[in-house]
Amino acid sequence: MKKFCFLLMAILIILVSIMPVFANELTDAINSKDSTEDKIEDVKKEREENQSKLNQAQQEKKYILHLEEEAEKAYNEKLEEIKMYDEEIRKYEESINEASERYEEKLELFKSRFRVMCKNTMVSYLQMLIESKSFAEFFERLQVIKIIVKNDNELLEEMLAIQKDYEFKQNIIATDRLVVQNELNDILRSLDSIKVSRADIDSRIDDINSKLNQLEWQLDELNRQAEELKGTINKLIKTKGIYVGGNMSWPLPACHTIVSDYGNRLHPIYKVYKMHTGIDIDGNYGDNIKAANTGTVILAEWQSGYGNTVVINHGGGITTLYGHCEKLLVKAGDFVEKGQTIAKVGSTGLSTGPHLHFEVRENGQTVNPLNYVSP
Ligand SMILES: [Zn+2]
Repeated sequence: MKKFCFLLMAILIILVSIMPVFANELTDAINSKDSTEDKIEDVKKEREENQSKLNQAQQEKKYILHLEEEAEKAYNEKLEEIKMYDEEIRKYEESINEASERYEEKLELFKSRFRVMCKNTMVSYLQMLIESKSFAEFFERLQVIKIIVKNDNELLEEMLAIQKDYEFKQNIIATDRLVVQNELNDILRSLDSIKVSRADIDSRIDDINSKLNQLEWQLDELNRQAEELKGTINKLIKTKGIYVGGNMSWPLPACHTIVSDYGNRLHPIYKVYKMHTGIDIDGNYGDNIKAANTGTVILAEWQSGYGNTVVINHGGGITTLYGHCEKLLVKAGDFVEKGQTIAKVGSTGLSTGPHLHFEVRENGQTVNPLNYVSP
């Protein structure tokens, strides 16, 4: 008997000294998980900020591309205009050339006629006149010379006038062309500056994208860490039997009205005084039921009387039960976190209307849930 007592004492001493170590381990794991989740939120926020920066930059780029397109269109239009002016200038040049050619031709014609006339005499106008054999011949020759000279001059004047007119028109067109050329140069300059802006925005978009990639990588890593920590917590609750600690939270955020307390009461269906093992919280079909604390789901199925039921083990012999659910969102073995939605309010099992029957048990024995939660 004495030996047995010693053994018991020894076991107790070991347990008392080991339990706090496990408890610290669990607290540390929960704290690390919480801080990892905070970091995840921060990174998500940063990602959102960068995403909106990216959207803005893409909008800007769209606008710049639009400007570029417009400028290129204007540039092509001006180029066409210049081509048109060049064509007109070329046509006038041709006309000027044609006019001078025509003049040359006519001049040649008169010259050759004149040469034929003086061929036999081989003399000048004056000699031609002097050598006239009669007054009639003199007069005739004078008339011919006059006509030749007059025609010559008229032709020259006419040709000069035409040439001048063409040159004048050509000058006007060249001036107009210069205006368009200047406009074209302006467009080219603005195109250059648009291209600089586009390169700038492209590099900004590249920067944001690489930042987003980096954040995505960070997020993956943090999520992996959080999952790992949840596994550690789950393992500690299951294997070491330690309560996760902390206060429990109200399991039905949509409603805080208790319609039936814990303890003896007149049963609403059996109409006899019976022990009510939990509290009934008023609710509507489909309201979210939340885990009162972190833990492991040990039961998620139909239970006679309770209807669809979830039981969560929070370690240290403490469990919570959620009864009469419409729909269960977890399954046995799942790790759930405090505040996580685990089921929807219903009226399954022995129930007169939609509500949540909530129980807290210490080592299997029901206790007043209000020792753990407050509405
Ligand atoms: Zn109840």
